[in-house]
Amino acid sequence: MIDWWRRRRDARTLRDRAIPDALWRVTLGRYPFLLQRSADDVQRLRELSTLFLADKEFAGMQGLEVHDEMAVAIAAQACLPVLNLGLAWYDGFKGIVVHPDAVRARREHVDEIGVVHHYDEELAGEAMHGGPVMLSWRDVAESGVSAEWGYNVVVHEFVHVLDLRDGAADGVPALPDRPSRERWLVTLTGEYERFCAAVDAGDETLLDPYGAEAIDEFFAVAAEVFFVAPQDLLGEHPALYALLSGFFLQDPARGARESLAQ
Ligand SMILES: [Zn+2]
Repeated sequence: MIDWWRRRRDARTLRDRAIPDALWRVTLGRYPFLLQRSADDVQRLRELSTLFLADKEFAGMQGLEVHDEMAVAIAAQACLPVLNLGLAWYDGFKGIVVHPDAVRARREHVDEIGVVHHYDEELAGEAMHGGPVMLSWRDVAESGVSAEWGYNVVVHEFVHVLDLRDGAADGVPALPDRPSRERWLVTLTGEYERFCAAVDAGDETLLDPYGAEAIDEFFAVAAEVFFVAPQDLLGEHPALYALLSGFFLQDPARGARESLAQ
């Protein structure tokens, strides 16, 4: 019954609130990694983005007005990870808070002997369980260019949302059964440990060294490259690529290969 109701509501939204052609073309032009997908993927992405926009609430901070083209840019990138998983993965939150630029946040850390340390952190985005997703518009706007070095703040934060869905920021999203969970842990942990060793050694890495902070950050950083520079990830970390491809049910490097061949 609920499925039936949802399908009807979605069909109505797609009919009445479709993203206009011109706006969708502008979005694809600004974020070329979207255009590298198959025509089917791009069409489905447009529909998912329409449903996402109907469901989520955007709020601009510090005087920022969130125009349609900003909301569509965010929606299209946010929907990439759930293209084949489905929007229900984002059911746990409503709000998307957009700041003009990165935000300085006051943090507190209690060390092993109980001393409280205060420090400032620059945030381009933030996700929390059940809470709103925060994004810096400057970082979102630049993500067409920053895809070249595998950086994408929207993918990063929404992959945290997927990870957090079961309540734990542990780099392990909800997986269908125990064997898949074990396989996930073995592969991701192995890749993470090798990555941390490379970062410690001062090696140049394809993935953002920030991924060495914790395994949930590593998952988010790897997913960024998976979606915006998939061939690079496939070339350098084939096992990690295969793991992500299995979870997201997507093979974005194939789309990139096909568009290169044209
Ligand atoms: Zn993060």
